[in-house]
Amino acid sequence: MLADKDRIFTNLYGYQPWNLKSAQARGDWDKTKDLMTRGQDAIIEEIKASGLRGRGGAGFPTGLKWSFMPKEPRADRPSFLVINADESEPGSCKDREIIRHDPHKLIEGALIAGYAMRARAAYIYIRGEFIREAETLFAAVQEAYDAGLLGKNAAKSGYDFDVFVHRGAGAYICGEETAMIESLEGKKGQPRLKPPFPAGAGLYGCPTTVNNVESIAVVPTILRRGAAWFSSFGRENNKGTKLFQISGHVERPCVVEEEMGIPFRDLIEKHCGGIRGGWDNLLAVIPGGSSVPLVPAAQIMDAPMDFDGLKELGSGLGTAAAIVMDKSTDVVQAISRISYFYKHESCGQCTPCREGTGWMWRVMERLRTGDADISEIDTLFDVTKQVEGHTICALGDAAAWPIQGLIRHFRPELERRIRENGGVMEAAE
Ligand code: SF4
Repeated sequence: MLADKDRIFTNLYGYQPWNLKSAQARGDWDKTKDLMTRGQDAIIEEIKASGLRGRGGAGFPTGLKWSFMPKEPRADRPSFLVINADESEPGSCKDREIIRHDPHKLIEGALIAGYAMRARAAYIYIRGEFIREAETLFAAVQEAYDAGLLGKNAAKSGYDFDVFVHRGAGAYICGEETAMIESLEGKKGQPRLKPPFPAGAGLYGCPTTVNNVESIAVVPTILRRGAAWFSSFGRENNKGTKLFQISGHVERPCVVEEEMGIPFRDLIEKHCGGIRGGWDNLLAVIPGGSSVPLVPAAQIMDAPMDFDGLKELGSGLGTAAAIVMDKSTDVVQAISRISYFYKHESCGQCTPCREGTGWMWRVMERLRTGDADISEIDTLFDVTKQVEGHTICALGDAAAWPIQGLIRHFRPELERRIRENGGVMEAAE
């Protein structure tokens, strides 16, 4: 189990106030200027060496992403950092804890990361429904300005840097980086075709990097304690500590910081009091937020909770939001409900997603009640394959993968429903 001394988020549960004075007592904003004096390239190299991979779901190496930004931004084309605090993925609930209880880690991280990327300002795009969190964030940013930690000569570093907080209006798709940029520009939140990538032409057509809240909030601690410390946790290519969010049928759902690669069983036993009704009662787990395929109980129990470990099981770490389902779950209904979510959130730009998400949900609903033909299971699987990888953004994949996971692992359950409903069963006989 991760020792308390190695936790980055020491106020995750809000036992202490979030304000600047308390944050400073916890070590935030301590000699920030000295960290920046190391130089922009040295900071990027340190983050690369730490092995930090993006905590928003895709897992792209953070330091490498930063290195794509121009080394000498033009005066008429400044660089920007955009911080993704949209957190709309069902099951994910970690960034809001950081913002509620440790906002100064995020703001200090924004300054250091922005400086490393030679950015002029950071925009924190926060989900509209996070009303209290936005209030805290506005107040924390103001505290930082009042203390001279942001603005002109931020933290006496000689570098000018602003942080703006922007509230979204409740669309899941605005968590996609280019849709977020469109929304920040005041347009409809619809993803852009890539290339150009944001590092080339992002916010207002200027070089932009979009990072998740957790990715930015861990940066000051990594620099203070060193890349070697951070990379001493986890397995090769899956380094560091991570906020896991466990919901569903465990005794005590929680958000907890743990070492990457912790076996699922240890995570649940140590922090959640076990599975409701015991391990024999576990049915399946969606390990990374609603967009990744579920993993049946037997496969997940001893699996390492990291990017590669879950990829080997045909799923993914995503945002590390584990949705635990015991045997009381109607798994077909659960996946159908997720399908409805993606249908509802499709922005409608591309045909496979706009038409496919609705079509897939309608078939899922018929499979739920057994009002289907056996051959439709394969047809549905084929359609998910035609949606996957054929859309502008990853929402198409996110809609396809949960259904693929269901068909892969729970086909007999789908067939049982059709059989009991008197459906056509030739293919199964
Ligand atoms: Fe919009 Fe869906 Fe296409 Fe993404 S995949 S751009 S959400 S229609």
